[in-house]
Amino acid sequence: MAVIPFHKVDISEQELEAVTQVIRSGWLTSGPVANEFEQSFAKMVNASHAVALNSCTAALHLALEAVGVRQGDEVIVPTMTFAATAEAVLHVQALPVIVDIDPSDHNISLAAVEQAITPRTRAIIPVDFGGQPADIPGLLELAHSQSIYVIEDAAHAFPAKIQGQSIGSLSDITCFSFYATKTITCSEGGMATTKNREWADRIRRKSLHGISRHPYDRSLGERKWFYDVVEQGWKYNLSDMAAALGLAQLQRVHTMWQRRFEIAVQYTAWLKELDEIELLTIYPSRETSWHLYVIKLISERLTINRDRFIQELEKRGVNSSVHFIPLHLHSYFRSSCHHTIGDMPNALDAFERSISLPIYSSMTDEEINRVGEAVRNICKKHRR
Ligand SMILES: *Cc1c(COP(=O)(O)O)cnc(C)c1O
Repeated sequence: MAVIPFHKVDISEQELEAVTQVIRSGWLTSGPVANEFEQSFAKMVNASHAVALNSCTAALHLALEAVGVRQGDEVIVPTMTFAATAEAVLHVQALPVIVDIDPSDHNISLAAVEQAITPRTRAIIPVDFGGQPADIPGLLELAHSQSIYVIEDAAHAFPAKIQGQSIGSLSDITCFSFYATKTITCSEGGMATTKNREWADRIRRKSLHGISRHPYDRSLGERKWFYDVVEQGWKYNLSDMAAALGLAQLQRVHTMWQRRFEIAVQYTAWLKELDEIELLTIYPSRETSWHLYVIKLISERLTINRDRFIQELEKRGVNSSVHFIPLHLHSYFRSSCHHTIGDMPNALDAFERSISLPIYSSMTDEEINRVGEAVRNICKKHRR
């Protein structure tokens, strides 16, 4: 019995051809393909500006710099996220203030954010957990009334919508990830989108050493050798090779989303009647990218815990994962580099009971059924 991996990339001939074409062209680093990727992406999420970067972490870092977050400022982040969300805050010498989540969808709790705001709060970084948008309109209203910026960590949320509006068009700056396991991939890559031209320009400049003229634009103009370093920057640009992969994936984004949606529908049909399992609430006003499909065990109804459940899945040839180990449980974040607000009972409970099932466009019907059957079978066998 073949093992069903937790993730498998979906790469077609189109991607192979696009990347090969870039290699043959002789221009490998950021150039025309990265530009085209930015334009197509901006159009798709209805953003005025998009800047391609080499990761979502880089996008978060430069977004915080662009809006002016600096040493001594506080930035509110949810504990239920990947390290990158808080790491970016540390990159600008600001203080991550870690708060609890809403148990229904694992997104940042608006009440917890309200409680965490101080005169030093400069930004909030909501994470669209698993691809379902956080309450971005609610957060924007709360933040903007107090001169606080919303930098959205949409690493999971392409494509996704809230109240009919695309993620990428709402927050002050939205950051996407094209890491290998995300909904579209560049192998490694990211994108920052915004309505603000000045912020976009600053992010672009800082992504390449604070240099005034982009190497590709220089290659087309006069005095090709001339550039000026106008501010301190970083090395965060996206190469054309990576962008070619992303651009080809972009053409297939709806087909790939459709498949993940079908998988979610099938899983839900298999699992919704099980008394031993709870599913996350998907709010009618939100369209998720279905990056993750999370089940939560109802501990009182099972004789085994989450870790044993994962082992039982493995025995049946199904690999799974856990999203996330809350930030405040990591040894580094337990040290003095952050503030936490309260004990975060919702995140702790969610962490103890959560399992992420495989969900990706290259899954076959047989694999989907095997996952559903494995979960049902384990519940039946280990029912209390
Ligand atoms: C993957 C991920 C990131 C980081 O993305 P990179 O492109 O690898 O830098 C940030 N936040 C969340 C929630 C993620 O899952």
